[in-house]
Parts: sequence; structure tokens; C-alpha cells
Amino acid sequence: MKGYDAVVIGGGPAGITAAMYLARSGCSVLLTEHMATGGQILQTEALENYPGFPQGIKGYELADLFTAHLEGLGVDRSAVTVESVAGDAGRFFVRAGGEEYAAKVVLVCSGARHRQLGLEGEDRLRGRGVSYCALCDGNFFRNQTVAVVGGGNSALEESLYLAKLVDKLYLIHRRDEFRGHKIYLDKIMHLSGKIELVRSSVITGLHGDSQLTGLSVKNLKTNDERVLAVDGLFVYVGSEPATGFLPDGIACDTQGFLVTDTEMRTSIPGIFAAGDIRSKLCRQVITAAGDGATAAQAAFVFLEQLHA
Ligand code: NAP
Repeated sequence: MKGYDAVVIGGGPAGITAAMYLARSGCSVLLTEHMATGGQILQTEALENYPGFPQGIKGYELADLFTAHLEGLGVDRSAVTVESVAGDAGRFFVRAGGEEYAAKVVLVCSGARHRQLGLEGEDRLRGRGVSYCALCDGNFFRNQTVAVVGGGNSALEESLYLAKLVDKLYLIHRRDEFRGHKIYLDKIMHLSGKIELVRSSVITGLHGDSQLTGLSVKNLKTNDERVLAVDGLFVYVGSEPATGFLPDGIACDTQGFLVTDTEMRTSIPGIFAAGDIRSKLCRQVITAAGDGATAAQAAFVFLEQLHA
């Protein structure tokens, strides 16, 4: 069994930063990522709020820059899905891709996955009109009519991206107020010819057997229901953490995100968490990277105490 000082689970901004800091401190590190290194920024067209890039930067370009920063640091990388973490501080066992790795500390940076609406037919129509990634699938809907559901930054940002491709876009949100940044909402307001806001409304049904053809939408104030004919639906109703591979009893908040202290320590000594998987207010690339640096430093101190 191969052993490391640290296994970092997840290759987004938090995991890459943590792996980089730990390797630079002289630790042996395995970084696991079940998809391409870069994490969710690979599904983001452009970032406008990452310091140092006042003109914005493409998601894949930032991901490439992050990944390039790992080169030459001796971080082992493995494209596997972690199945379980067991053991105790100083001797954890991380099972991934049918292999087992020993680790003195574990840093959980595995982010969160898109939440589904939970509507009848949502799974069947996934990839047949229903999508969770505008950057991946937007081009299929060029010059067509789509809807975006959600009121956070993802829904607003991805609506602006899709508006460049489609003829018409309905932005459906269950409240009147949007929780996303005003700067995005202002841009959306300027596109009122193309983007129609459908506020205080929820989707109650998906139409179409083998391909999405429309949505039933209910206004929560009037109870009026109407059918919108759309070719595509992009779902941006938040995210859910994937923590099922962690030991039972690790402290989570009511939504399942990992609870840490300010040093990114979870309730299990030797397991640290960073980035979107953590219970926190602000989920941004910059805060994920900051979490990763803090977690790495705290893990390094922990390793020193183990060796003392
Ligand atoms: P989010 O901020 O949690 O927003 C989710 C939205 O979906 C909310 O508006 C929520 O409505 C709505 N919603 C939740 N469940 C729903 C349901 N069952 N049916 C209909 N609507 C539902 O999620 P996010 O937009 O994916 O963003 C996640 C995190 O990443 C946030 O911290 C966000 O700031 C960050 N982010 C930042 C940027 C950026 O800064 N450029 C870009 C993308 C994401 P309510 O408002 O009524 O709760």
C-alpha cells in the first residue's frame, strides 16, 4: 500500500492550493480528482471577480494556470473517485479506484454537485433538454428558447452566457428578490428584449417524453399556471455536498456541508476540509483557494505534532 503524509481529495481551487502548499512544505502528497483537474471552474465560461484579472478570465484558462502551478512540486495525481476514508489521525486509509492509500492526514476538497429540482421526468430528460451546465450544453440550443431556474449567482451568470446563444430565455425564480450579485442582475435587466424574468414562480412539471418540449410554471402569488414552450432547461438551484465517503459521525450542518473551525479542522482530528464542501457563507474560487491554503498550513502543523 502506498503511503503519503497527506491525501487531498478533490482537484478544484481548494485542493490544488492545499496540495501546492503542502508539497512546498516538504510533505508527500496524493491529489485525487475524479474529473479533470480544475473543478467547477471548468464549467464556468468566465470569472470577473478573481483578483488580478480585471478584464476577466476564462474558467478553463484559470484552471490551466492553477494546474500548471503543481508542476515540478512532486505531487502525485490520480484520476479516481474516492470510495471511503477510514482510520484515525496518523493512519487513515483512503480507498479509491480499487486501491488503498495510507495517509497521515486527509484534506477533503471535493466540492459540491448541482442540486436537482426533483421533478418527475428530470432524470429521463437529462441530456434531452434538461442540463446543469450551460457551458457544456449551451451550444446545442443556439437560436432556440430556453429557461434557467434559480436566483443565485450561478443562475444569473449562466443566463448571461446563454443569452449570447439563444433567441429567448426565461429566468424563473421562486422569489421576487434574487440572491445573486446586483452587477449580474443589472446586466440581465439590460437584456430585457431577450431575457424574460419569471419571478415568484416555480416549475411544477416537465413536458416531453424523449425530449423536453415545455414547462408548467406556477405563479406563487396568483396561483396561475401556464405552460412555457422551451427547448432547454438549465437548472441552477444550488449545490449539495458529497460526503458519503467520509467516516460516520463527521460533523455536518443541516444541509450536509462539513463543519470546520477557522483552521479548516473538521470534527475528526487529522481530517481537514476546504472549499465548497465546507459550511460557510461565501463560495467563491478565491475563498476556496484561501481555505486550501489555511487547511494545508493547519495540516502541516498537525503533522509536525504527530512527528514530535
Ligand atoms: P445558491 O446561491 O445557493 O442559489 C440557489 C438558488 O436556487 C437560490 O436563488 C434559491 O432560491 C434557488 N432554489 C433552491 N432550491 C430551489 C428549488 N427547489 N426550486 C427553485 N429554486 C430553488 O447557489 P448557486 O447560484 O449555485 O451558487 C453557489 C455558490 O457559488 C454561492 O455561494 C454563489 O455566490 C457562488 N457563485 C459565485 C459566482 C460568482 O461570484 N461569480 C458564480 C457562481 C456561483 P432562494 O433564493 O429563494 O433560496
